[in-house]
Amino acid sequence: MSRGFRRLRRAALLLALLLIAAGLYVYVQMQRRPPLTGLDTLLLPAAAPQAGQLRVRFAGVSTLLFDDGETAWLADAFFSRPPVSALMGPISPDLQSVEAGLQKLGISKLAAVVPLHSHYDHAMDSPLVAQRTGALLVGSPSTLNLGRGAGLPAAQLREVRDGESLQLGRFKLSFIASRHSPTWWSDGNGHEDIEAPLKPPALASAWREGQVWSLLVEHEGRSILVQGSAGFVPGALQGRRVDTVFLGVGTLGKKNAAYRDGYWREVVQASGARRVVPIHWDDFWLPLPADGSLPQPIAYLIDDFGSTLADLQARARAEQREVRLAPLWQAFDPYPQSAKP
Ligand SMILES: [Zn+2]
Repeated sequence: MSRGFRRLRRAALLLALLLIAAGLYVYVQMQRRPPLTGLDTLLLPAAAPQAGQLRVRFAGVSTLLFDDGETAWLADAFFSRPPVSALMGPISPDLQSVEAGLQKLGISKLAAVVPLHSHYDHAMDSPLVAQRTGALLVGSPSTLNLGRGAGLPAAQLREVRDGESLQLGRFKLSFIASRHSPTWWSDGNGHEDIEAPLKPPALASAWREGQVWSLLVEHEGRSILVQGSAGFVPGALQGRRVDTVFLGVGTLGKKNAAYRDGYWREVVQASGARRVVPIHWDDFWLPLPADGSLPQPIAYLIDDFGSTLADLQARARAEQREVRLAPLWQAFDPYPQSAKP
């Protein structure tokens, strides 16, 4: 055997070992996730619907139902939660999951569905939800192309631009351009658009980002900010005053202290929110627990919700803010106690 061949064989063996080690690392980190211990102490209590009172319900990732008994609308719509293995091929909204989700949220009629950006884990089920409920599909040109692909009529599509507002009953929704959390699938700076009607099945990557929104929700003199992704535009929220922020924290557990400082300053401090409710922390490659117990956090491979939560709690304590978690499916009062008149 020549020396050259032996060297080549050694290199090939080393490469194979490295690939196996990398594969093992990915596999193990996909199974490992932060423990749920103690999280239940942060859960907001269920609150019965009451005439004129705003109630919110959480359905995983950043899907949130806002309902004042008169008008109901959804921020995001994602119930299908295809497993990670399905992402190797084309995916589609799952009618059964969507119907089960709508039923658990008690939705029969919906004024609007408002994706916070157009990635599949935010927007995939929004056209189907609009079809089932008669809701308007509201958002960027990318989001509207999801509606067109599903055959929604133009009368059910409402495009919004940075700085615009939309009145839904007693709700005023204002759209403020934001950014995606910088990740390997988004640079957190520019964004890619869905440029033509998208008709599933399609690869997950076909649900391109579109415009990312900070959504300001004003209702009867109080207000809420919904931040679907852990990105920010410096200065964009300065001077806004909200009671509560639903804070997208997906991938924040992998960010450095400087990034976390910036996110806290530009979203929580800038908006003045006294209550911080982290969202987008559950592993959306898994189904939600059927009994409504807490979902599993995103695996360590991608995020570290335990570290995020400890960090948010430390920051909140120092500034008389509170960090609370939304229960699954159950209606809760989104406002901190002392903000009530
Ligand atoms: Zn996204």
